[in-house]
Amino acid sequence: MLREEQTVRGFVQKDHNYQFATVSQGRAWVEINLSALAHNVRQLKQFLSSQTELMAVVKADAYGHGAISVAETALHHGADSLAIATLPEGIELRQAGITAPILILGAINTPEEIRAAAAWQLEVTLCTPQQALLFSDTISVIGQNLPVHIKLDTGMSRLGTDWQQATQFVRLVRQLPYLSIASIYSHLATADDPDPTVMRLQHLRFCGAIAELKAHGIVPPRLHLANSAATLRDSALHYDLVRVGLALYGLYPAPHLRCAIDLKPVLQVKARVTQVKTIAAGSGVSYGYQFIASQDLPIAIVGIGYADGVPRNLSNRLRVLVRGQLVPQIGAITMDQLMLDASNLPDLQVGEIVTLIGRDGDFSISADDWATALDTISWEILCGFKHRLPRINI
Ligand SMILES: *Cc1c(COP(=O)(O)O)cnc(C)c1O
Repeated sequence: MLREEQTVRGFVQKDHNYQFATVSQGRAWVEINLSALAHNVRQLKQFLSSQTELMAVVKADAYGHGAISVAETALHHGADSLAIATLPEGIELRQAGITAPILILGAINTPEEIRAAAAWQLEVTLCTPQQALLFSDTISVIGQNLPVHIKLDTGMSRLGTDWQQATQFVRLVRQLPYLSIASIYSHLATADDPDPTVMRLQHLRFCGAIAELKAHGIVPPRLHLANSAATLRDSALHYDLVRVGLALYGLYPAPHLRCAIDLKPVLQVKARVTQVKTIAAGSGVSYGYQFIASQDLPIAIVGIGYADGVPRNLSNRLRVLVRGQLVPQIGAITMDQLMLDASNLPDLQVGEIVTLIGRDGDFSISADDWATALDTISWEILCGFKHRLPRINI
């Protein structure tokens, strides 16, 4: 215990509100293994041809892993550029002193946002002719060049101009002063689906749009199409850069893509036992008495709950790791605490560590396990851990 206590205390981030959290004080925390992240980045770089750049997608606070430390680590180990979803996410990275190219994947629709993007040297996504006019009008007042990344909708039905209007759109943008086309890109809706039909159709449409540009004498700028799934799946989708999110964090977008490269999970979620007691046979546990002890039962109270991002829907289904063993959680998960059946944990002590996501001994529990149990995707699980949990980089 003592050795671990010192180790973790040494790595508590100084800039975090929980800067005094130590293992003995902290009730629950998220551990971010930046060496695993570095490993994943290197694996991805090795997997890509030297023609293809790696854009690390660090939106939503790097999928809950901490945008600044993830961005710095990814860039240090070979990522070429960064992508985020919103303007404030980009500004946060610039304020931290990051100078790499940063693309805002989301839509920018006001002059204020364009001015801020330009001031912070953030590259913007351009989706419509109206936006193109607004961008150009706004930026010409400043007299600064604005790199824009043209987004085509090839079948996601989210942001972007319809792929059939690509040539018309690119021609308009080329005529507008102060806009320089940095890339043309699109996004795939089903790259993780074992059935490749829709992905192939989107790819064909993207190719078609580019071929039409060429036929009109327009030399295409840089092109990109692939998210993690498409990157792991097919090098024909790599183009000039790949936009990788999930795989950076060590998770596979789908089971059938596991063989492509070796990824290590970066995030672990841990908490502490805060009380141990034995309840009498017939006692109910937690709100609503969803669990009734059928015999006298040793239980452990753990200091983590749904306000930290442990979904209440996992109540009575969650299993955690204590002393390298799988332990069932019992009763409703509450806002700040949850209970365990401690029958197989003799002499359990307050302060012992409970792993909710991560490895302990021979067992590990992944965000995929939670996603399967909740009928959702690992992306949502990772983004679900709240800032109330101090983040410790190890
Ligand atoms: C989030 C996002 C990505 C990254 O997706 P992953 O599946 O996490 O790799 C790539 N491109 C766009 C446009 C995105 O919004």
